[in-house]
Amino acid sequence: MQYLSTRGAAQPVNLDDALRQGLAADGGLLLPESLPRFEPDDFATAHDIKDVAAVLLRPFFAGSALLGDLEAIVAETFSFAIPLREVGNAKDDGRVALLELFHGPTAAFKDVGAGFLAACLTRLEGDPEAPLTILVATSGDTGGAVAAAFDGRAGMRVVVLFPDGRVSDRQAQQLTCWGDNVLSLRVNGAFDDCQALVKAALADSALGERYRFSSANSINIGRLLPQSTYYAHASLEHFRRTGSRPGFIVPTGNLGNALACVMAREMGLPVGPVVLATNANRTIADYFATLEWLPRASEQTLASAMDVGDPSNMERLRSLLGEADVLRERIGVLSVDDESIRNAVRADYEEFGFATCPHTATASHTWRQLEGDLRDACTWVLVATAHPAKFETIVEPLIGEPVPVPDELARILSRPSRSVPIEPSLEALAQAMFARFGTGPG
Ligand SMILES: *Cc1c(COP(=O)(O)O)cnc(C)c1O
Repeated sequence: MQYLSTRGAAQPVNLDDALRQGLAADGGLLLPESLPRFEPDDFATAHDIKDVAAVLLRPFFAGSALLGDLEAIVAETFSFAIPLREVGNAKDDGRVALLELFHGPTAAFKDVGAGFLAACLTRLEGDPEAPLTILVATSGDTGGAVAAAFDGRAGMRVVVLFPDGRVSDRQAQQLTCWGDNVLSLRVNGAFDDCQALVKAALADSALGERYRFSSANSINIGRLLPQSTYYAHASLEHFRRTGSRPGFIVPTGNLGNALACVMAREMGLPVGPVVLATNANRTIADYFATLEWLPRASEQTLASAMDVGDPSNMERLRSLLGEADVLRERIGVLSVDDESIRNAVRADYEEFGFATCPHTATASHTWRQLEGDLRDACTWVLVATAHPAKFETIVEPLIGEPVPVPDELARILSRPSRSVPIEPSLEALAQAMFARFGTGPG
């Protein structure tokens, strides 16, 4: 399988180079040259999610040095449960379900993509003599998932940069509780300063002589591909039981998770209607309504991990399916404001009997807004992207109860935390790296 740039001006690369590069050489995003097609019967002997992943992902590994490791990579990636839980009251009996993507180490769906990328990159590039150093700037959720995924992996290091005082206490803990191969830097600045520092470090020739750098940002194809697995597994499970295709409502920011859902449908999995739920960042909703793509600065909302004004994966979606006139025929979208998120968290607690996180609440609000016919057309799967205990300062006042902390999260919260404060300068970053990792080379 070759991977092509959405901009068409880069040489095709195989999976291994696609994983190493992240971005295509022409600045575009990498996509497989074509999507494999499946029938539900192709998964007849695939029972658990690892079996489904092995069948679904095998064509993407054609020509990769990792093909022989596929089963092991899949076993490492899907080491936690991803259950489809039926919820709802008598009226909606069996007509709404939650796809719980939050049972991983940092209690959010990014654990899947980060885990897969770590499993692949360690095998390709892990070298105890000259470790690969992953640089990641984070506004909260991504950095924790990446740190957790690479924690303790031989021949790999992570440097996480986050804005000091601008992430929640629990997010900060998830960024700072790891072993010696993870260096957590609290930057005296904003997220943009962290991102600028990562770019500067990657471009700096002196640092480049001492360390082998890579990044693990969300546009790496290794973050995207494994995510189609849980849509395949959930839709097959429902289809086998009922003979019908479930619809999915996906909380959406940078559009990676929803794109994986659309890709599963394109590959022939029994996925019904797909609806994107965004927060007040309306770029996608406006594009579908006006046919004009107008990216803008992001706006802060309660569903902060979805605060994206210029979703980069739109470039992949347009390249795969077409422009807004085509997209809006095949994909729904609703932009949900903060007041509706608050109401949905309360309504979920009353109706389902448990709390949802503010991101998941954009999906449940969207489900309640579906017109009668559409709502009754199929079972709707609400994609639960994070555990509400990660966002307890928002959720607990709304429901008037404490949110129980799941075991994985409790383990992370009880670990010792360490981080190094730095000024937003390349010298400060280099100094912190020398202090932890030595001065290289390697
Ligand atoms: C990252 C994130 C999202 C948005 O996912 P995209 O792939 O960027 O659309 C939604 N919910 C949570 C909890 C997240 O961490």
